[in-house]
Order: sequence, then structure tokens, then C-alpha cells
Amino acid sequence: MADRRLFTFMLFVLSAVCCSLTEAGYISYNTNSVIVPGKINVHLVAHSHDDVGWLKTVDQYYVGSKNEIQGACVQNVLDSVVSALLADRNRRFIYVEQAFFQRWWRQQSDATKKIVKELVSSGQLEFINGGMCMHDEAAPHYIDMIDQTTLIRQPFGHLFIKQEFGQIPRIGWQIDPFGHSAVQAYLLSAEVGFDALYFSRIDYQDRETRKKFKTLEIVWRGSKTLGSSSDVFTGIFPKNYEPPPGGFYFEVNDKDPVIQDDPLLFDYNVQERVNDFVVSALSQANITRTNHIMFTMGTDFKYQYANSWFRQMDKFIHYVNQDGRVNALYSTPSLYTDAKYASNETWTLKTDDFFPYADGPNGYWTGYFSSRPSFKQYVRMLSGYNLAAKQLEFLKGRDSSGLTTDSLADALAIAQHHDAVSGTEQQHVANDYAKRLFIGYTEAEKLVGLSLGCLTESSLNSDCYSPKTNFEQCPLLNISYCPPSEADFSNGKDLVVLLYNSLGWKRDDVIRIPVSSDSVTVLDSANGREIESQLLPINEASVRIRSQYVKAYLGEFLDVAPKFWLAFPVSVPPFGFSTYIVSNARSQASAATMSSLHPSKESNDGYIEIGPGELKLLFNANEHELSYYTNSGRAVNSSLKQSYKFYAGSVGEYTDLQASGAYVFRPDGTFPIKSDDKVPFNILHGPILDEVHQQINPWIYQITRVYKTKEHVEFEFLVGPIPIEDETGKELATEFSTSMETNKIFYTDSNGRDFIKRIRDYRTDWALHVNQPVAGNYYPINLGIYIEDDNTELSLLVDRCVGGSSIQDGQVELMLHRRLLHDDGKGVAEALNERVCVKNECTGLTVQGKFYLRIDPLGEGANWRRTTGQEIYSPLLVAFTVQDGGNWANSHVSTFSAMESYSLPGNVAMITLQVLKDGTVLLRLAHLYEVDEDKDLSIMATVDLNKIFPGKKILKITETNLSANQERSVMEKKRLKWRVDGTPAREKIVRGGPVDPSKLLVELGPMEIRTFLIYFDKPASSHAVQ
Ligand SMILES: [Zn+2]
Repeated sequence: MADRRLFTFMLFVLSAVCCSLTEAGYISYNTNSVIVPGKINVHLVAHSHDDVGWLKTVDQYYVGSKNEIQGACVQNVLDSVVSALLADRNRRFIYVEQAFFQRWWRQQSDATKKIVKELVSSGQLEFINGGMCMHDEAAPHYIDMIDQTTLIRQPFGHLFIKQEFGQIPRIGWQIDPFGHSAVQAYLLSAEVGFDALYFSRIDYQDRETRKKFKTLEIVWRGSKTLGSSSDVFTGIFPKNYEPPPGGFYFEVNDKDPVIQDDPLLFDYNVQERVNDFVVSALSQANITRTNHIMFTMGTDFKYQYANSWFRQMDKFIHYVNQDGRVNALYSTPSLYTDAKYASNETWTLKTDDFFPYADGPNGYWTGYFSSRPSFKQYVRMLSGYNLAAKQLEFLKGRDSSGLTTDSLADALAIAQHHDAVSGTEQQHVANDYAKRLFIGYTEAEKLVGLSLGCLTESSLNSDCYSPKTNFEQCPLLNISYCPPSEADFSNGKDLVVLLYNSLGWKRDDVIRIPVSSDSVTVLDSANGREIESQLLPINEASVRIRSQYVKAYLGEFLDVAPKFWLAFPVSVPPFGFSTYIVSNARSQASAATMSSLHPSKESNDGYIEIGPGELKLLFNANEHELSYYTNSGRAVNSSLKQSYKFYAGSVGEYTDLQASGAYVFRPDGTFPIKSDDKVPFNILHGPILDEVHQQINPWIYQITRVYKTKEHVEFEFLVGPIPIEDETGKELATEFSTSMETNKIFYTDSNGRDFIKRIRDYRTDWALHVNQPVAGNYYPINLGIYIEDDNTELSLLVDRCVGGSSIQDGQVELMLHRRLLHDDGKGVAEALNERVCVKNECTGLTVQGKFYLRIDPLGEGANWRRTTGQEIYSPLLVAFTVQDGGNWANSHVSTFSAMESYSLPGNVAMITLQVLKDGTVLLRLAHLYEVDEDKDLSIMATVDLNKIFPGKKILKITETNLSANQERSVMEKKRLKWRVDGTPAREKIVRGGPVDPSKLLVELGPMEIRTFLIYFDKPASSHAVQ
């Protein structure tokens, strides 16, 4: 027995020596594998997730500085990936973030560029997503999502990839954003032309259900209006976007075992590692339909030494395929998608969206909907400004040597990143985004001023570079800081106020500017007539904010503040401007009416009535609380209460350490904030508007405005600094309560576009276990939220992304500000405790903003939500110049519309008008209504392009996909059509027909966005002022 054992041992040693003699040298790994039918095919997708700012700024990540914060250098990634791909032509890699790629590309030699182009054309290197960043999906407005993906002006984004590499990205790759929007699925995937969309972060309960039923891969129908025409194949990763369980991380400092296949060295482990791989593959295959699975081989800032990953993947492919139980191959999401498509499988249909995201019972990522509210507003404000500035650039003509909106567009694109506008970046990174936006704004502001100067001096009638009229703008107008309007007009100088309207409809509005004198008058410069105006004393809370924030932002110490807001009604033609003259009043009769401060007329039943028009609010005379809303013109009469409350931010407890933080909302109790009756309840009455001023508590000031000519209530809030002396973080919300019976149902928008039905404590796709009854019912709100019952609907519109919900029937709430003292453990490693500093003195951030409320008869709210929603996104652009005694209207154009007498239909907005470098013009028209949303406006609309561009001849017009990198018809033909489980529902999808170049009429069905490249008979870059 013993001898025989020895013999066996000898045989084993001999065989080991024999094999080691043949394999100890050079091994040519066979990486040339392709899909094998009938086997489980493991698609290895090599990727690096490079955040365009998070713990470090975008530039710090690129160059690899500040590695003490995070060891990350994206230059290393791109450099080393290129050489690793050249070392084995079977290797593949995908790259996402164009913000980094552009930084790298411009530094490369022609020789390297040539090599990279070859890598792209051979399919070894593939661009996916293709935007500047992987945008967040909760906080961005859909126009910003489109712009950052297209970014047609800067030579980066989809058009750059097309021009430079001849490639059209096919795949949406949103692997890290914290929840996924319907607009991402149907607009930024299907309408862009993507064949599939992949991501990882969905609710943990949803994921478990999907694993059980093999529904991690689905067809997502994000638009109920566009139905199956905008279906997109959607793949959700089983765990996250990192390598699968089993030890497959291979950055140089990672700890997972590498394949040791040199028999002359210790720890030879080929078979063990092959087994690990096969186990992992079979486990994933168990929860996946078809015999194709994807291993996402990479994570944040990996591949800084790409060879360390590729060497291991080479070996895995070689040995796993020798083993033969599964088939491993280098792949990309495109190849994977094609394989899924070729399987001819049918897929479960998914509608609505993937909000909110939770990674555990107390881990609802719904705080970030409201994190950094001022930054969110800055991004939104500049988004609307950018749209207007691009129009004015078009009207003036693009001057290649002059000012452009490029820098603003670039900064806005980066700000859409999922750790930027989301509010989940470190403070120094938030500052970096704000700085970039400010630099971009400053250039755009000059361009806008120049363009307005040229347009008002139309007599030049030639290329206009230095108009005599100098228009100033006031970016701090919201805190009553505006030097031109605060000036003294007693010396014969008049203030010219120009209002530019970037919407395609005539617009009536009321504007407010700070003035110093109590005796001013306003003239409509078009007819020289005096118009009614009203003065409202600027309250102390605003004066304090103005003084502190002007010091903080501009370093200027102001000792004199303007005394009044001057409010006056304006009427501005579509895609054009009007001008008004403000001067010292010559007589008392012509002067602006001073608001009356005396106590309001109190009705017999103990209520104080507010509102100069048909809309009235009734406040309880004793409690000073809002009680009723009535609109006699619309026969609406509803009880309505408003209050403020805060949620104490949880710090976690023994059983679950989860704290409330930048990402996560985890309340630890709700605390009502009662108005202190000792604080005066000031009411201003006037001919244009009434205002109710309330110091709700020492850190909440609210102004409620009811205008004579508007049928909604405007609320302006000043919140902060949120006190933390009690060492409790606070998340501030305001709520409105009515007696409406809403049966748990409310509606919130998706990225400012479609409204999605929400049901409290319920999800469509699985039986929800509610652990966080407030946080688990919060949704992102970019346009608005509404509730309805059998008779009425109540809508709230917002001026930035905020979180909101309907926590009880008949109630809606918005979270306006958050100040927290603990990190929530999701990576940012900072508490969300924003401060503002003057010199070295820092206080908690005060946030200012507005929201808007209206109650309509049931079925009539959509028109207001859509129209006013556009007006909030695109406020009138206000510019000022001083006129020295002369008659403005005699020497200037006082009112102008680029569309002359035309205006767009009420259900259509022009969301892009942009002149490109070569003079081509990019135009996007958007239908604003969903199917069945409004009885009159959810219908096909027709736009006459001849009338948008009067006096210009359109030589050629090409309809493209949403990101303008391919013709629409070509995209339609190419895009994969996926099969859905069950019998297809009958649908009536309305889309506009092709545009006849001889008629130039564009039809738009509900929710349709159509994108065109227009070639005029002479390039718009030499466009003369009309
Ligand atoms: Zn990320």
C-alpha cells in the first residue's frame, strides 16, 4: 500500500515538472473569444467610473492632485488604457465622461490621436453615454440633460464624437445616479437613439423581487404619451456597477487574489480562480434571462494602471474558456445589447420610474432632492439664462473672435453631474462648480448686453460689435441689489428697463426693481404712456440679506440700501423685448402708488382678505394664519392652511447607524413651527399686488403675494441660518393642507416634463414594506406637484429641484432647506452644513426662493402648470441702461419681436435656438402637454418656421435625433425594437409628419420634441440685425 502511494506521488511530481516545463515560460493567452451559442456567455465590460467632481474638483481628478483626499488621476486612466488596448487587440474598454476626455484629448499628439481613432474605429474603445458627465436624474431639468449630452457648440459631446471619431453612442450608461427618471428612459435614451440603458441603483426591495423573477432586464416605457415608440431595453445590475462577488478587483493596490499561473512560483491558483469565476457567473446567470450576463469590470477611478486589470482578464478568458463550463469574452455594453437582442426574448414591461432609491430600510436617498438648495437654484437660473443668451447670440450673429455662451454651457454641463446639482459633493467642490458657472455667466452677460445694445440700435443695420448703448444686468436682483436701478434719477437721467422674453408667446408679467426714491414714474416707451406702478417698502429681513450677501459675494460693504421695490406690469412680445422708462415723478399724480400699510379690512367673520383681483386669500385675524383660498372668476373656494415644520435629522442609533445627510433623508421626529404672534403681521395693499409679510420664527421669513392680474399665489421664503446650537440637524419643510379627499394619490414631475402618478406607501412593481413613512414617500420635484379630488386640483410649482410629497390626504409639502451635522456614510464624508462667510465670520446659509400655488376646478390645472412652469424656467431677462435726458424711443427700438407678428402655439416651446460655429442653426421645439392632460392643448400643434425666421430663407432643413448627431429617419431605422411580454396594448401615438421643405410646417404631437439643423441662405454668423 505504502509503495503504491509513493509511486502515485512520484507520478504526480513528474507530471507537475513535465507541465511546468511546457508552461513556465511565455504564455500566449487566447483572448480572441467570441459569443458561443448554447453556453453562458460572460461579457467582461472594462470600465472606469470617473466622477466629474465629488470629493475633488473635476480638474483635481483629472490631473491627480490632492491625492490625500482621494487617490484618483484620470489622466492615468486614459494614458494607461490606450497602451493596454494596444498590447492586445482583443481587449476592449468603454469611456463615458467627455469632460475628462476633452481635457485629455487636447493634450495628445497627432500620433496618439491617430492611434486612439483606430482604437475607436476597431471597436476596442467605445464612447458610451457621450455627454460631458453622467448626469444626475433627480435634480436636473430636462433641457440641461439634453444640452449636456449634445453640447453641440463646444466640440465635445455627441457631435464631437461623430465628427472626430465617426461614432454614434448607442448606449445609455447611468450606473451611479441615485434613482432613475422616466425622462432619462424615454427622452435621453430612446429619443437620443440609444438601443439600451444600464444602471445599478434601484430600491433594495425592488432588486430582490427582480432577482427572483428574472426581471432585472426589462423594456422601459418611460412615456405614457409616446408609448412603445419610446421603449428602451434597460439592464439593471444585480448588485452594483463593480465586479461581481467573488474577488475580481485588480487595481494595483486591490487585495483580491490575482491569477498566479507560473508553476515555478508558489501559490499557483489557476483552477481555484477559474472556479471562483464560474461560480460567480452561474449565480448571476440564475437571475438573468438569456445565456448572456455582464460582469462590470471596474469601479470609481479604476484603471489608473490599466494593465493590472487587463492582465487578469486576459488570464480569466484564457483559462475559463479552457475549462469550458462558461464562455468568457471581452465585450462592451453594445455587444452585450446586440446579444440580448439576437436572443429574440420577450421582456417584462416597466412604466413610470425608479424613484425613490433606497439601499436599506432607513436608507432612502431622498434628502439630496433638496440638498444645497441655493446651488440648485443657481444652476436652474443659469439654465434659463443660457437659453435666452443663446437666442440673443443667434439674433446678433456669432462672432468667432468674440464673446460666446460656450463657457456657460460648459459649466452648466458639468454641473449636471450626479455629485454636482445633486448636492452630494464636498463643499470645496460645490464652490468650484459655482465658480465655473459664474465665469460662464460673466461672459454670457457681456454677450447679452452687447446683443441687446445692437438690437435696440437697429439703425446700424450691419454687423454690430460696439453699440453705444450699454446694458447692465443685475444677477443679485433677487436680494434687492441692483446699482443701476438704485441710482438717483433727480439729475435728469432716466432709467431704461428692457425686458427680454425668450418664450415664443407674448407675455404679461409684473416686474420688481429696487429703487431709492419714493417719487418715481414708469412710462411704456412704445407709446410714451404712464403706466400704473406700485412701491413696496423693502423689509428689514431683505436688507440684512442684501448687506451680508453682497459683502460675501462681491466684497462690497453697503451702507445705503434702496428703500422700495418698484413693481409695474409689463407686456413683452414673443422672442423679443419691450422697454420701459423709470424716472422721477414730475407730479404726485403720476407717481407710483405707495402701498398702504394700514391694517387690512377685517370682515365680520374674523378674516382678513388679501388680493386686489379675483383671487383672494383669507387669513384668520387672530392667529394670522392662512385659512381660505377663493377665486370668484373660476368658482373655486377651498379651505387652505399653510405651516412650516422641521424634521430633526437622525444621527442613527445602535441598531442602524444610518444618519440623515447629503444623500439620505432619515427624519427623527417632526416639529411644527408656530408663528409667533408677537411678531408683526404686515400687510401691504396696492393696485398691482398685495403682500403679507410674516416673520414665522427668527429664521423663517415669508412673503405671500397676490397679484391683481395673476391667478396664483406667489410665496417667497427666506430660510436660515438654520440654528444648530441644540446640536440637532434640521430639514425644513412647508406644507399646505386642504380638506381634499385625495386617496393617497399625488403627482410629481419627471425632470420638469412628464407628470407621474404617485401613491403613498405603494410601488407599482412590488409589494412595498414601508419603513420610513415620510422619507420613503419623497420624490424629486422640478416643475411641480399636484393633488386632486372629485372637484378641484391644487398645484404647487417650484423654482428649483426640491423634495416633496403628500404625506396625508389633502396635503402637500416641499422641503426647502437642510442643515445637518452628520455624514450619512454614502461617501461624501462631510456633513451637509453649508455656511456663508464674510471675512472669517461664518454663519449658516440662508436660502431664498419662491414657490407658486393655485387651485383650479378639476381638469383645468394643466394649462397653468405648463404655461407658468415655462415662465418660471425662463423668467423675463431684465437689463438696464441710463438715458440722459433724450427721448429713448426716438433713437432706439423700443419694442421688438424676432418673429414679428407670429407667436408659437400655446402648447409649444422653443427649447433650443443656437447658432453653431459653421452658421448652421440648431432648433428644438417641444410640445408641452401629455396625452389627455388638457382638453384643448393635448393636441397636435403646428409651427410655421417661415414665421419664426421672417426675412430669412431656409435653404435646407434636416430633422435629427434629440442629440443632433444623426438624421432622425436613419436613427428610427437603426434603433432596435424590443419585444414585450404579453399582447401589446392598443395605442394611439401621435407624432408629427415629415417636414415638407416647401411649406416648412412642423407638426408636434403631445410630448414630442423635434430637433432640426437649419441652413439659411446666408450663415447666421453674419446675420444682420433686423
Ligand atoms: Zn459617481
